[in-house]
Amino acid sequence: MKFDILTIFPEYFDVLKTSLIGKAIDGGKFDIAVKNVRDFSKDKHKKTDDAPYGGGAGMVMTVDPIVTAIETIDPNHEAKRIYMSPKGVTLSQKKVEELSKLDRILLLCGDYEGVDERAIELAIDEEISIGDYVLTGGELPALVLVNAVARYIDGVLGSEESTSEESFSNGLLEYPHYTRPEEYRGLKVPEVLLKGNHKDVAEWRLEKSIEITLARRPDLFKDVDIAPFLPKKKRKHRT
Ligand code: SAM
Repeated sequence: MKFDILTIFPEYFDVLKTSLIGKAIDGGKFDIAVKNVRDFSKDKHKKTDDAPYGGGAGMVMTVDPIVTAIETIDPNHEAKRIYMSPKGVTLSQKKVEELSKLDRILLLCGDYEGVDERAIELAIDEEISIGDYVLTGGELPALVLVNAVARYIDGVLGSEESTSEESFSNGLLEYPHYTRPEEYRGLKVPEVLLKGNHKDVAEWRLEKSIEITLARRPDLFKDVDIAPFLPKKKRKHRT
């Protein structure tokens, strides 16, 4: 998997050198190339923004440096070209998994008031938002997307970590975790986790998952087939 990132603030992406993601990049698990849109500007001052037609506040990123950059970096349109935008589809775990199966993703980060609409029409396949709020630029959204997608790439997570049981993987929020000590300020680790009966642990975790999802995100149940989670006896009564 290769990510190409287009931005006017490449230094934002220095953070990718840290943690598991930095280790994975160093270990060649995936590749990331950050390019400055300014380098593709034909303006003698390397300008990449201008005042909006029709008036209004702020500046707009100009079309030519963006289209030139995308066509230079991805001349044969091999990458899925994504513009990070509050107007895009909201990123979800399902979307993340889908993206992780691609060989190449190009992310365009907007800044100021956004980009000239023609850049989107000419060079972008899809717009993705990271939530219903507005940030100053697309750099943090791009970092969020890279981080979430990278976790699905083989070898990025340590063997002890897995995406298969965490929140959203089965449509539910994850169960609570505990580690040593067994008791802290009167709060005890649930007995079932100390006894080593894997079947009981699995049942307890599922029960907690359902309980937490019902309490915090009941909306998630609309996308979940709950039949496989019901005890066999109850399942029979229902069908
Ligand atoms: N004027 C735009 C609007 O109202 O939709 C907002 C522009 S925002 C200040 C600047 C840039 O930040 C956008 O072009 C986009 O790349 C990025 N951005 C801001 N919020 C975002 C979000 N929730 N998801 C993805 N990108 C976002």
